[in-house]
Amino acid sequence: MTQRHLVTGGAGFVGSHLVDRLMERGDEVICLDNYFTGRKENIRHWIGHPNFELIRHDVTEPIKLEVDRIWHLACPASPVHYQFNPIKTAKTSFLGTYNMLGLARRVGARLLLASTSEVYGDPEVHPQPESYRGCVNPIGIRSCYDEGKRIAETLCFDYHRMHGVQVRVARIFNTYGPRMLENDGRVVSNFIVQALRGQPLTLYGEGTQTRSFCYVDDLVQGFLKLMESDNTGPMNLGNPGEFTIRQLAELVRDRINPSLEFVLEPLPQDDPLQRQPVIELAKSALNWHPKINLSEGLDATIADFKKRLIPSQEAES
Ligand code: NAD
Ligand code: UDP
Repeated sequence: MTQRHLVTGGAGFVGSHLVDRLMERGDEVICLDNYFTGRKENIRHWIGHPNFELIRHDVTEPIKLEVDRIWHLACPASPVHYQFNPIKTAKTSFLGTYNMLGLARRVGARLLLASTSEVYGDPEVHPQPESYRGCVNPIGIRSCYDEGKRIAETLCFDYHRMHGVQVRVARIFNTYGPRMLENDGRVVSNFIVQALRGQPLTLYGEGTQTRSFCYVDDLVQGFLKLMESDNTGPMNLGNPGEFTIRQLAELVRDRINPSLEFVLEPLPQDDPLQRQPVIELAKSALNWHPKINLSEGLDATIADFKKRLIPSQEAES
């Protein structure tokens, strides 16, 4: 039986890939977005399809819809964008999740929350299992997002306990891939765009901080499995391959233009020093593990940026 899905933030980077998978399997999809960091371009290929609907809406306002599954992704994810209006980010996290849980309760839908490794803050435990409670600054420049996602998780589990709402909480670790915005501000897109433009790559701090990068197709597979599993989470979804930011810069530079230089810029406040997921829970509960390594994923991402930034590449590829 086909299901009807609501994807909030569906015109964004991860959301649009999820919409693709749901549409490809023949389900009905309502894509909801306020286009803060999303683009119609990302889902344009579905407009006009009988199974697809597009709604411009802000999740801080309630909405009534009949759906079976709610994928709640609406929230800016890049530090540059979530810090642009931090009060709005906190409202989106709290009110947006509150409204979507209210909808889930009313219509008996299951809701998956796109939470984040940021709930672990600047972690004192490495790598990070789901049982780690985190080290988050409640009053810093990242707090609107980190604390926003923490209260969003809290709301999910309170709706689950009080009202029996079926929730699934995914803690996503740095995910990258085609369709990231060229002005997104996150590290993978920054480095690729800088290298393609022949500019030096900007390392914040010394570039010794680490991240673990997951390719978007792997993440979406994990989402699909988590939604239909019996496990509420919270569940880490990410690729345990850990790299320093300098190593990432070297990988991108060497693929695009080995003569490019690095410039050091100040490390932003509260920037986590290290981050790597423990994914034993996802492996055992979902039989999921990421399949695409950083080299392969970077090649696909660079190819996408080339098409967008250097239009002549489209004809060649
Ligand atoms: P993104 O910025 O590309 O997508 C977010 C989408 O939500 C955009 O389309 C944006 O326009 C929309 N949106 C923002 N505020 C909204 C509002 N108030 N009402 C309606 N729509 C709104 O980011 P992404 O990387 O695709 O992230 C998707 C989700 O996954 C986010 O919730 C993010 O916190 C989470 N996440 C992503 C990563 C990652 O590395 N990509 C890591 C951890 C968590
Ligand atoms: N970063 C960097 N140069 C950039 C953008 C980011 O060195 O041009 C660093 C940033 O300081 C952080 C890491 O890369 O340590 C990942 O940053 P991103 O914004 O992608 O994600 P997050 O910090 O939320 O994990």
